[in-house]
Amino acid sequence: MPGLYLHIPFCKQACHYCDFHFSTSLGLKSRLVDAIVRELELRQHYLGPAPTLDTIYFGGGTPSLLTAAELAQLFEAIHRHFPVSPGAEITLEANPDDLSAVALYALRHAGINRLSIGLQSFYEPHLRLMNRAHTAEESTTAVRRAQDAGFENLSIDLIYGVPAPGHHIWEADLANAFALGVPHVSAYALTIEPGTAFGHRLQKGTFRAAPEEFVATQFEALLAAMRAHGYEQYEISNFCQPGRESRHNANYWRGVPYLGLGPSAHSYDGRNRQATLANNPQYVSAVLERGEVPATVDVLTATDRANEYLLTALRTARGCDLAHLRTHLGVDLPATRPAYLAALQANGWARIQNEVLTLTDAGKLLADQITLELFQSPAVAP
Ligand code: SF4
Repeated sequence: MPGLYLHIPFCKQACHYCDFHFSTSLGLKSRLVDAIVRELELRQHYLGPAPTLDTIYFGGGTPSLLTAAELAQLFEAIHRHFPVSPGAEITLEANPDDLSAVALYALRHAGINRLSIGLQSFYEPHLRLMNRAHTAEESTTAVRRAQDAGFENLSIDLIYGVPAPGHHIWEADLANAFALGVPHVSAYALTIEPGTAFGHRLQKGTFRAAPEEFVATQFEALLAAMRAHGYEQYEISNFCQPGRESRHNANYWRGVPYLGLGPSAHSYDGRNRQATLANNPQYVSAVLERGEVPATVDVLTATDRANEYLLTALRTARGCDLAHLRTHLGVDLPATRPAYLAALQANGWARIQNEVLTLTDAGKLLADQITLELFQSPAVAP
């Protein structure tokens, strides 16, 4: 069943690594919520006639900046246009400093049943380095408070590969995460993107990213620790206790259609992708004043479909189904790339069992390069 994504493009302050679409001027927030409600009306048939939603995901930005009234307004619009399945997974991304007991009560009351808490680290100097808006103490208390408020379905985000002497800070971050007993953890390597504060400092020579081997060692430590604590790595950056995957994100990776609302949100109708303009004032005026959603549509070619499948499937534990790739996407890797597939296996980077190609732990470190190598170019695609 399809999902609904709502992008809430506001943050209290800019984290130094972040290149998502957000604004720190909150003056437009209530108009933007009005615009999302209007966009929902305008695009209610994007997924066909009133499909039942199985997942709803409030992402950002910082959706925990929404007031109870704004959240109620959004839910009212959702329920007016779509049936929502009784067991729907309804996730909201939250920052620790927003999760007071009162706010948590309002979130539960509104219908949120899963929180994804962006705590990133339990180590104060790293939080300050990354310009996070919360303290290390709030990282822990937010999770405890959410559990006390009845949020059992919790995920936390962690960042590794932050420059530091030695690996003890990352090891302590992992230990702190396990102590909280959350069923889901997303862990991302710190990447330095152009246009971010870290990107500018890197250019000026006032910031140095951690060396590749340092990041690789922390990734290996992550995999070992997750395995030792009974978490499954169902996607390269996502770990869960058995049966506790994010249904919303797992559906993305399976190619299930979804409708994305708000500036910079993406949508997929099963054939093509659509991206909404990443500009808050222009989005609001186009939607509210002209009744138009400013967006670009990507018409997916056969090559695009095959490459998207390779990109997502190789990152998941399910792996890349070579028979599916051949039969439904017209790409026969064993026939066209036998030498490369053999090399992947000989190097211990991948295995093929029952026509399913999966990456080993060593291969996951090279996932981007391996995927690029397997990408189909338009010239050779059917
Ligand atoms: S709170 Fe999240 S979206 Fe906002 S700047 Fe920080 S990482 Fe980016």
